Amino acid sequence: MSHERRDRRLGIMGGTFDPVHLGHLVAAEAAREEYALERVLFVPTGSPPHKPDQTVTEAEHRLAMVLLATAGHPHFLVSRVEIDRPGPSYTVDTLRQLTATYLGWELYFITGADAVLELDTWKEPGEILRLCRLVVVGRPGYDQHRLREMVDRLRRDTGACINVLASPALAISSRELRRRAAQGRSLRYLVPREVEDYILKHCLYQRVAATS
Ligand code: NAP
Repeated sequence: MSHERRDRRLGIMGGTFDPVHLGHLVAAEAAREEYALERVLFVPTGSPPHKPDQTVTEAEHRLAMVLLATAGHPHFLVSRVEIDRPGPSYTVDTLRQLTATYLGWELYFITGADAVLELDTWKEPGEILRLCRLVVVGRPGYDQHRLREMVDRLRRDTGACINVLASPALAISSRELRRRAAQGRSLRYLVPREVEDYILKHCLYQRVAATS
């Protein structure tokens, strides 16, 4: 007989993390505190389904940077689940896998507002909302009105659990960091020191594609 009780809470920090930056870390820590998450699992996207035309940095580099950025935090972990799974990295597949691994845990999927605004285009959005609580992190300047309408609609139509977390630190963006790196500008205080060193050592973001 199962004695399953969903009294443990797992945060799942999903993102391309190209590269991971302090805005992501601050948001993950804020979510951990706000929702009393026992662990926050960073899940770098393997092959982003929504970026077929965009050049994304090799997954192993993005993963290595996330590992460096989260090392030393006792409640942060990193998962290869999307990197090791062949094909496009659909969130619904990740949530199914993690539900099976973390039996009895309540899952909180944490990601950016701009990504969630496109949720209707994701694979099986209804199933995603059934499998997890969604934590939407808003960066300064995102379309609050559109998000509010969407959240209200989803709550009304599906009973989904969606929380919005404002994170001023997300004024830092991966796209801006890639541009800065391509221009040879400093990333100091925007990414952890180890991540900055890794970017320099591996000559990442030397050229920025027009679409990125
Ligand atoms: P993105 O389009 O690159 O980013 C959208 C916005 O969200 C950006 O402003 C981004 O900032 C921010 N963001 C991304 N991850 C974040 C996080 N964990 N916390 C706070 N802000 C975050 O989106 P993405 O990073 O590729 O995708 C986000 C997540 O949605 C991933 O887990 C991805 O697999 C999932 N997703 C799934 C599907 C699907 O299943 N079909 C489709 C789209 C996205 P930065 O650029 O600074 O990170």
